[in-house]
Amino acid sequence: MTTRVYKPDLLSAVRKTVSSNADYGKSICCPFHNEKDPSLHIFENQSWYCFGCGKGGDVYDFLGYLRFGDSWNNKNKEMFREVMRESENNSCRKVCIDNNLIKQETEISDKTKETFQWAAKVFHEALTSANDAGADAARNYLYGRGISDRTIRMLKIGYAERSELHKKGLSLAPEKRSGYVERMKDAGFIRNGREYFVNRIIFPNFTKSGTVLNFTGRALGNSSKRYLNIPNVRKNLYLLELSDPEKELYITESVTDAVSLQQLGLSAAAVNGTALSRQMQASLDPYKKIIIVPQNDSASMHAACKWCETIPRCRILLPEYIDGKEKDINDILRLEGEQQCGFKLRNAAENLMDCSSYMKTVGNKFL
Ligand SMILES: [Zn+2]
Repeated sequence: MTTRVYKPDLLSAVRKTVSSNADYGKSICCPFHNEKDPSLHIFENQSWYCFGCGKGGDVYDFLGYLRFGDSWNNKNKEMFREVMRESENNSCRKVCIDNNLIKQETEISDKTKETFQWAAKVFHEALTSANDAGADAARNYLYGRGISDRTIRMLKIGYAERSELHKKGLSLAPEKRSGYVERMKDAGFIRNGREYFVNRIIFPNFTKSGTVLNFTGRALGNSSKRYLNIPNVRKNLYLLELSDPEKELYITESVTDAVSLQQLGLSAAAVNGTALSRQMQASLDPYKKIIIVPQNDSASMHAACKWCETIPRCRILLPEYIDGKEKDINDILRLEGEQQCGFKLRNAAENLMDCSSYMKTVGNKFL
């Protein structure tokens, strides 16, 4: 069921209360600290952030700081009610927020969890111990990308041949087979009578305790879909659960870049595409030091600008460490080796750019 929540529109609230010519994409002088150069940004996703004093939030936080100053606390019910009441009285435009998008958790049944864990093991064994042409090609693909055996083991990377799970099912006693097939269907591994992952490298997304949240399969041969996610399960940031919120977290677009960074001993998570969902954003809340790692192409830099809008506290690792024909971290790892790649990254990390500068310098190219 969808729950809809109506909130006052942030931009109109800011225009009414602080600056009548406030707009998206340009800064206003922050009313919460003294400044001459504007550093408060209003984003189209109904959030705001001040790069000067670090305050930010949604429309209620904006009105709350105006009303209560630094003592504003959005968890304080009385304060919150008062701010809501005030905003009702002024005739701001309302926007509809789909609360389900924010609150819905990934709910995987215990049965599916077990199946996921089991399948991850089967795929991993197929990659690491099978002696056939498919597994060879899969291993060679990963080695070719500079990904080591140690990383393959650490991240439980696997391989799905044409009928990996089917073969396992056949080894069961006949009376257990139909239950087995049902399980595979429920978990999404069998669709329309066929195995879902065929000839793909399998990246299970697991937590520290070993629970598998979802799977991404990367096509080995030609396929219209290079990356395929297990159906019916929410897409989470790949490998996020392995990282420590107190430490720096590198966010990449591609799964192999996140794997490469993990291999270099860094905490990294992949969006696996350019769409940073609300749920992914929410999962990043505990992380204070987020570093976006765009690839060296305009689509990826454009995506990084979008991410900046949604997570204004993050910083950007400029792709200046990339030279010539290299496109991303994994290219450097593959072509120059671990040591050189780590060296380049550490150097680049000395000069991170903040979101607002990045949007000004890079973002302007896309407007
Ligand atoms: Zn400020």
